[in-house]
Amino acid sequence: MRDSMHKFTELGQRFPTLRSASERRNDFHEIDGLFSAEELCEQSSRCEQCAVPFCQTYCPVANNIPDWLMLQAEGSTRAAWERLSEVNALPEICGRICPQDRLCEGNCVLERAGHGTVTIGAVEKHISEQAFANGWVRPISPERERGVSIGIVGSGPAGLSAALRLRELGYGVHIYEKQDRAGGLLIYGIPNFKLAKEVVTRRVSWLMDSGVEITLNCRIGKDKSLEDLREKHTAVLLATGVYDARRLGLASEDVSGVISAYGYLQHSDRIYLGDELSARQRSELSARGRRVVVLGGGDTAMDCVRTAQRQGAKSVLCLYRRDRNSMPGSRREVAKAEEEGVVFRFLRNPSSILLDSADDLQGVRVQKMRLAQTGVDGRALSVAIAGEYEDIASDFLIKALGFEAEDLRSDLSLSDLAVTDWGTIVVSKPSMHSSLGGIFAAGDIVRGASLVVWAVREGMDAARGIHDYLQGMEDFSNAASAGTGAREVRRARKVA
Ligand SMILES: Cc1cc2nc3c(=O)[nH]c(=O)nc-3n(C[C@H](O)[C@H](O)[C@H](O)COP(=O)(O)OP(=O)(O)OC[C@H]3O[C@@H](n4cnc5c(N)ncnc54)[C@H](O)[C@@H]3O)c2cc1C
Ligand code: SF4
Repeated sequence: MRDSMHKFTELGQRFPTLRSASERRNDFHEIDGLFSAEELCEQSSRCEQCAVPFCQTYCPVANNIPDWLMLQAEGSTRAAWERLSEVNALPEICGRICPQDRLCEGNCVLERAGHGTVTIGAVEKHISEQAFANGWVRPISPERERGVSIGIVGSGPAGLSAALRLRELGYGVHIYEKQDRAGGLLIYGIPNFKLAKEVVTRRVSWLMDSGVEITLNCRIGKDKSLEDLREKHTAVLLATGVYDARRLGLASEDVSGVISAYGYLQHSDRIYLGDELSARQRSELSARGRRVVVLGGGDTAMDCVRTAQRQGAKSVLCLYRRDRNSMPGSRREVAKAEEEGVVFRFLRNPSSILLDSADDLQGVRVQKMRLAQTGVDGRALSVAIAGEYEDIASDFLIKALGFEAEDLRSDLSLSDLAVTDWGTIVVSKPSMHSSLGGIFAAGDIVRGASLVVWAVREGMDAARGIHDYLQGMEDFSNAASAGTGAREVRRARKVA
C-alpha cells in the first residue's frame, strides 16, 4: 500500500461546495463547483485500494477507479486523466450526472463501513476539467486512416462514444442527427443545472475537430433512408434512444396545461440556449406563476420539478405512486429537490384530470395507494385503496412517467430487424450486432430508458464490435481495393 493512500481514517469525506438552495433555485447554472487542488488530492487519498474494488464492479464502464485515484493522490493529474479516459469515453459527463449513490460510490467499502464513500464522481469531473483546461484532450489523430466509413444514427452519449472510439481506430465516422443540435438527451433533456450545455458542445466540437462529420436536421427514415446509409457506409450503428412518452391513459390528458416531461425540458433547454421562441411558446410551456404538479418519481421527474422551481412556479408538488424508498431515481437528486423547495406526496396515483366548465385544467384527482407484496422486478407493488381519493389543484401538470421505444422497424423500413416485445433492438453482446449484417445498436434503444453511463459503455462496445466485424471480413480489404461496394461485402457475411 502506498503511503499516499488509505487516508480515510484521518480525512473526512468532502464534496465540492454546493451553492445554497436559495441561490441555486433562481438560476440554471451547475449547482456545485470543483475541489481545490489540495482537496482533490486529499479526497483521492481516502481510497482504501481494495483488492476487489466494488466501485469498479458496479461502474457500468468498469472504470479503474482505484488506479486513477492513486495517481491523483500523488499529484499526477495528467496520468490520472490518461488512465481514466482509457476506459470512459465521456468522463467529464459521467462524473457530473451518473447516479453515483447507486453505482460506484454506493458500493465503496468506506460507505458501507460508515466512513463515507470516496467522492469518486466529483474527482472524475475535476480531473476531466483539468484535462480540458490544460489542453491534454487533443483532437484524435489516428495512427492510420482505414479508408472505411461508418454511419451512426443519433448523437446521444451512445453515438458520441462510439464515434470517438471508431475514430481512434482510424475509421471515417459520420453521425446523422434529426435535431438541430448534437448531444441527444445531454443537450435536450438533462437540464443545465446538472450538466452544463457547454460541456456537451465542447465534446461535440472536439469530435468534429477529430474528423467526425455530423449532419444535423437529418432524420433517418425521412430525410434519408437507412438504405442510403447502408449504401454509403460499411457498417451502421443505430443509437436513436427512446422517446415514446408513456401516457396516463386518462380522459382529457391532452388538454392545454397537461404536458410531457420531454417537451417541457426540451423547451426549457432551448430558452437557456438562446433559441428564438414566440411569446406564446414561451408562456405555454413555462411554469412561471403556476401551481405545478409533476407525476412520476424518477430522474426525469426530478429534473422537471427542479426546472419548474427555477422558472418561478408558484408551487411545485411531485406525486409518486409508491413510497419514498421505492423511488427509482437517485436519492441525492430527491434531497436536492426538497432543499430547493419541492414538496413530495407519496402513494398517490392519478385517476382523472379535473376540468372546469370551460374545459380548463383545474387539477388532478388521485387515488390513495398502499404498498403490497414485492413484484417480479423486486420492487413493492402499489395497490389502490378502494374509494379513497384526493383532489389536487393544478394549472400545469407534467407527465414524467418514462419513455418507451418508438416503432423503429416501421420508421426505418427495417421489417427484418429483430426487436423485443418492448420495441428495443435485439443485439448480440458484447458486439452489439443486431440481427441484420452490418447493423449495430447501442444505448437506450437496446436497454430501454436507462443511464448515460450505460449508453457510453454500449457505444464503446459497439465500436469494438464494428471493428471486429470488419476485421473478420477476410475479403474486405480486397473488395475495398477492387472498388467493390461495401454492401456486397456485407452481403457475403450474414450475421446469425
Ligand atoms: C430528462 C432526463 C434526465 C435524465 N437524467 C439522467 C441523469 O441524470 N443521469 C443519467 O445517467 N441518465 C439520465 N437520463 C438518461 C439518459 O439521458 C439516457 O439513458 C441516455 O441519454 C441514452 O443515450 P442514447 O445515446 O442511447 O440516446 P439519446 O441520448 O436519447 O440520443 C439519441 C439521439 O438519436 C436521435 N435520433 C433518434 N431517431 C433518429 C433518427 N431517425 N434519425 C436521426 N437521429 C435520430 C435523437 O434526436 C437523439 O439525439 C435522463 C433522461 C431523461 C429523459
Ligand atoms: S462512470 Fe459513473 S459509475 Fe463509473 S466511476 Fe464514473 S461516476 Fe462512477
